[in-house]
Amino acid sequence: MRVLVVEDDVSIAEPLTSGLERQGYTVHWVATGADALNAPEADLVLLDLGLPDLDGQVVCRRLRERSNVPIIVVTARSDEIDRVTLLDLGADDYIVKPFGFRELAARIRAVTRRASPAGDAAQPRPVLAAGPITVDLRTRRVTVDDAEVELTPKEFDLLAYLAEDAGAVRTRDQILRAVWDANWWGSTKTLDVHIASLRKKLGDPDLIETVRGVGYRLVDGTR
Ligand code: CA
Repeated sequence: MRVLVVEDDVSIAEPLTSGLERQGYTVHWVATGADALNAPEADLVLLDLGLPDLDGQVVCRRLRERSNVPIIVVTARSDEIDRVTLLDLGADDYIVKPFGFRELAARIRAVTRRASPAGDAAQPRPVLAAGPITVDLRTRRVTVDDAEVELTPKEFDLLAYLAEDAGAVRTRDQILRAVWDANWWGSTKTLDVHIASLRKKLGDPDLIETVRGVGYRLVDGTR
């Protein structure tokens, strides 16, 4: 697996790179936002927000505009970045400096497990259907009325979770626990932001129904 490390601080980048390589990752390290945008495609991006040339948030958004690669943002406490803003930019997770390697490794595993189709290969029902929507858990492809829809990893996970039991109401807590690490995505706005963007991409806001005060429900086949 190829990891793009975007970090201008050598004292962080060097141990990070060697630690990741010991875990078997192929690491491509760049120190500027410009180099990050010119780097070869990776399977995961670790993105420091405080870069010498470009604003890390801009780099995050541009990376997200062109691919669905999982992005973990690395922030200093002083960055005081809003979690919802990070989500809007397309980040999948973030980690605050200073962090331990074990914590980072766990986050990488969580993000890539969600993004990787390989782990789902043995599931008995790899394609979920709900109304006009199909969700292929193995290939992580989504179609609406047979047209493919491009989703970010989080949007996919959210839709897949709702589609596992279309027609049933999933509470906000259930969704946050299943799709996000409940211990760090504190803001419930996070969920609303993702639902809004999912509705937009699915092309019909009625496909995901808001159950006021409870949660959300994906349409079942009877629409
Ligand atoms: Ca920095």
